[in-house]
Amino acid sequence: MEQIILIKNAQVLAPEPLGRRDVLISGNSIAAIGENFSVADSNLPVTVIDASEHYLVPGFVDSLVHFIGGGGEGGFATRTPEMQLTDATLGGVTTAIGVLGTDATTRTLTNLLAKAHALQIEGISTYCHTGSYEIPCRTVTGNITDDLILIDKIIGVGEIAISDHRSSQPTISEIRKVAAAARVGGMLSGKGGIVSVHVGAGDSLLQPLFDAVTGSELTVKQFYPTHMNRNNAVFESGLRFAKAGGVIDFTTSTTDYDLKHGEVAAAQALARALQAGIPAMQLTLSSDGNASLPIFNEDGDLLGLQVGQVRTLYQSAREAVQQYHVSLADAITAITAAPAAVLGLKQKGRIAVGLDADLVLLRHDDLTIDQVFAMGKQLVAAGQPLVKGTFEP
Ligand code: ZN
Repeated sequence: MEQIILIKNAQVLAPEPLGRRDVLISGNSIAAIGENFSVADSNLPVTVIDASEHYLVPGFVDSLVHFIGGGGEGGFATRTPEMQLTDATLGGVTTAIGVLGTDATTRTLTNLLAKAHALQIEGISTYCHTGSYEIPCRTVTGNITDDLILIDKIIGVGEIAISDHRSSQPTISEIRKVAAAARVGGMLSGKGGIVSVHVGAGDSLLQPLFDAVTGSELTVKQFYPTHMNRNNAVFESGLRFAKAGGVIDFTTSTTDYDLKHGEVAAAQALARALQAGIPAMQLTLSSDGNASLPIFNEDGDLLGLQVGQVRTLYQSAREAVQQYHVSLADAITAITAAPAAVLGLKQKGRIAVGLDADLVLLRHDDLTIDQVFAMGKQLVAAGQPLVKGTFEP
């Protein structure tokens, strides 16, 4: 029979606070949420977990991960490595969206899809975007709309680069065509069909997206711009985009160099955006995991590289609570319900009966990750992996 797990007496953030509840997992799904569930008299093979010292929150949704690696801006030796399963699970991430980046020549969509399937087999839920930084977009079938309709794991396009020296310098017309293809593909396949947009440090900021929307039938909701905490000018332009109804994303992987050179820490960006009155459901965090974090000088010359880490996703959410006074519910929303909604992942990002049993138990005292469940299976206990990827030691 299917495995049954009863989580008792947890302070549940669904992500809205539900109070103390018992949550029953059956197979892959959340079967019941209530109070005083008892299995004492039954002979059912139920695993009971006492969560009276814990918050129970949805498994984290990381909307941008380079899980086959990325980078290469400093030549072949600077291509970053693949993500491993526990890079995600130890950081509470139970759903990851894989993307290509600058390099769509030595990194391919077929490789990305294969890695997505591998991670799914190992235990987490995965999806991909078709395309990469460049327009015209690389695709699997030759067509963005076809990729969305015909390939289960493909849920959108991106990350398309704008306002960046590594972009293909797309025209407004090109951006509109990509968005239109994503929109139609999303409608016909019942998927989100959004365009993930990599926003660089160029002077045009988000203007290409405003221009793409103005004078067309597209809306800002079609675009999901990321790296909106890259510097203060990008952040302020993100607030304008959010006030116009869009969802904006802050990147949690960073370097000391970036923070010293004007990047707004993702935790601080989240706090400032909430203070500016942006609803929590329009604000997300993503890790940019396994991206290269290139360090450039003013002439655009590469000085060095670091690698993005998926575990920074929750570290930043926790930092938002502990250092910037964001409520735990709002911080968790930015890594669960909000990204799941913008991506159109209806089974993810919330704790409710019938949804996928992706759950994280956080310790009350220090908000560290204690236990992680993905599709009803426990992958992390006491902060240690119970399950590892195929090639992890
Ligand atoms: Zn990017």
